[in-house]
Amino acid sequence: MPTALLSIESARAAVASRCAPLPAEPVPVEDAGGRVLAADVRAAADVPRFDNSAMDGFAVRSDASRGALRIVDESRAGRPASRTLADGEAIRISTGAALPAGADAVAPVEHVHEIGGHVTLGAAVAPGQHVRRTGEDLRAGSVVLPAGTTLGAGALSVAVSAGAGSLPCARRPRVAILSTGDELRPPGSPLGPGEIHNSNAVMLATLARQDGGEVVTATAVGDTRAGTEAALAAALGDADVLIVSGGVSVGPHDHVKPALETLGVTERFWRVDLQPGKPTWFGTRDRQLVFGLPGNPVSSFVTFVLFARPALRALQGAEPFPRREQATLTEDVPRRRRTQAVRVRLDAHDGTLRATPTGAQGSHVTASLADADALAFIAAGDGVAEVGAQLPVERIA
Ligand code: AMP
Ligand code: MG
Repeated sequence: MPTALLSIESARAAVASRCAPLPAEPVPVEDAGGRVLAADVRAAADVPRFDNSAMDGFAVRSDASRGALRIVDESRAGRPASRTLADGEAIRISTGAALPAGADAVAPVEHVHEIGGHVTLGAAVAPGQHVRRTGEDLRAGSVVLPAGTTLGAGALSVAVSAGAGSLPCARRPRVAILSTGDELRPPGSPLGPGEIHNSNAVMLATLARQDGGEVVTATAVGDTRAGTEAALAAALGDADVLIVSGGVSVGPHDHVKPALETLGVTERFWRVDLQPGKPTWFGTRDRQLVFGLPGNPVSSFVTFVLFARPALRALQGAEPFPRREQATLTEDVPRRRRTQAVRVRLDAHDGTLRATPTGAQGSHVTASLADADALAFIAAGDGVAEVGAQLPVERIA
C-alpha cells in the first residue's frame, strides 16, 4: 500500500467539516414530512388549551356527587356547555369536550345509571378524575421540538398541536448525479456486447431523495476526457452536491479526478480504508460538495450511505451520522486487508441484536444489497471474524 488510507471516521469528519446548513424556508406542515427543522418549535399556547374530559360520561362536582344528579346540559367536543354546574347536577360530556365551569371530575358513562333525566353514580369520584388539565401536554412557550429534528409523523403531530401551520426547514439540497462509463445503457434498453444497464443512476437518485435531496439532474457520459469534463461542468451547475459514479480509479479510462480538478474542484480526500469503496473521492468547489463514488453498484451504495448521506443530512441541519449499535455475528466472515462494510440483516434473538450477512460480499454482487438493512464493520486483519463476534453496525434503511 503506497500511502496509508484514510479511516472511515477521518473521511467522514472531512465531509462533515465542509457542510454548513442551507438557508431555511417556510414549509407548510402538509409538505414537511421528512424535512429537518431549522429552528426550535415552541408551543404557541398551552395544550390542551382548556381542561377537558378524558372519557365519555358526566361532568360532576366530586364533593356533591351522591344521589340522583339532574342532567342539565351537554358539553360536546367543539361545543362547550353554556351553564355552570351546581350542586346536585351533572352535565353530559364527550371525550375531549371542555370541562364545564363548576365541575372538577368526570364519571365515565360505563359507571353510571341514567334514568329519566337523572344520573346516579356507581362509585364516588375523586377530584380531577378523568380530567385532562390545561397545559398537561405542552406548556405555552416551551420548546416542543428542537432544531435539527427530522419531521416524522409524530413530530408533525406535535408541531400542529403546538400551533404551527408552517415550519422553518433548510431547503432541500440540490443533487446532481452523473454516471460515467462507455458500457452504460439506460434501464430496460437492449444491450450490445460488453454493455450493462446503468443501475447506479436510479439507485443513487433514490438514496438522495430518501435523504431529503432534490435530484436536479441525472445524466450519463462515456469515458472520454472532454466528454467527462463537459458533463461534469453541466452537472455542477447550481447543485449543492454532485454525485459521480465510476471513473475515479486509476485506469486509463478514469477521467473524473483530473476533469474535476480542471473545473476548480479541490480534492479533500481520495481513497479510504474501506471495502467496498476504497477509491472514494471527495472534493469541494466553494460550497459545492463533489463525491466521486466507485462504479461497482455495491461500492456506490455503501459509499453513498457512509459519506454522501451524512453530507445531505448535515446540509439540512440534521445530525449527520447514524447511531452505531452492537450486533452479534451469526457466521464466520473472512477478514481482509481493509475495513469491511458487510451487508447484513439484523434481527433480535433472545434480547440481543444479531447480524447475518446477506450473501456474497463482492462489490459487484447486488443481490446482497436488496436484503440488507444494516452495514456491519469488520476490522482489517488475518483469519476470520468469528460467529459470536460483537460488531459495530449502522442501519441503512
Ligand atoms: P469504475 O469505477 O468506473 O471503474 O467501474 C467499476 C465497475 O462498476 C465496472 O464493472 C463498471 O461497469 C461498473 N459500473 C460503473 N458505473 C456503473 C453504473 N452506473 N451502473 C452499474 N454498474 C456500473
Ligand atoms: Mg468506468
